[in-house]
Amino acid sequence: MNFDGDFIELGAVDPAKLADLAGAIGEHDWELDIPGRGRVPATADLRSVALVFDPDLRHSHPTRLPLLKVFESELRSALELVADHFESGEKGQALVQQFGLGYFIRATFERLRAAGSVEFGPDQGFSLVHSHRLHVPLVTSEAASFTVGSATRHLEPGRVYEINNRRSRAEHNAGDIDRIHLVLDFVMRGERCCCGVTRHPNTFCSPRACRETDQLEIPCRCFD
Ligand SMILES: [Zn+2]
Ligand SMILES: [Zn+2]
Repeated sequence: MNFDGDFIELGAVDPAKLADLAGAIGEHDWELDIPGRGRVPATADLRSVALVFDPDLRHSHPTRLPLLKVFESELRSALELVADHFESGEKGQALVQQFGLGYFIRATFERLRAAGSVEFGPDQGFSLVHSHRLHVPLVTSEAASFTVGSATRHLEPGRVYEINNRRSRAEHNAGDIDRIHLVLDFVMRGERCCCGVTRHPNTFCSPRACRETDQLEIPCRCFD
């Protein structure tokens, strides 16, 4: 989801138990492929474990994968913090009242190996454009940095960040331990993408209504 900025900090959770669990995931469960994350070249530096995920990047009826059970109770505080953030406030309450509560459409762990880096172009496609991307660092070091657009910062363990996935990103891990983030995509039912507000003000967002803007090769210019 595009917004006027690069990062938004939502709050913080205790990352200790999730970090232990994620650190204990077997090597064979870490997959090389991170489907749908923009135009990313395959790289051995970034691996993922899917908890809630569909390769077709659908926008409703998410598939809860078997591994989710292992993490579910420890994930709760982070998931609640995210849901509360988007469902409260004037805009959030109005959306909930009209369309119902939000939901997580994807949840993965992403591991960036020590001395590794990865770059992403802006995310494209209906679901990626219409969901909020959250990163929660679980295992990290001061030597890990995250760039969104032109802003680069170190993301602190346990803090919950929304990042603008319609801008280019780069992740660097100059540390000597692998960096692990929990990565979430959260959907507020009925919420319009930035372009939808201006280009089809009287029509709800849908794959058809947003067909052109979802596929823009560069971020749209709504907040320039
Ligand atoms: Zn839209
Ligand atoms: Zn826009």
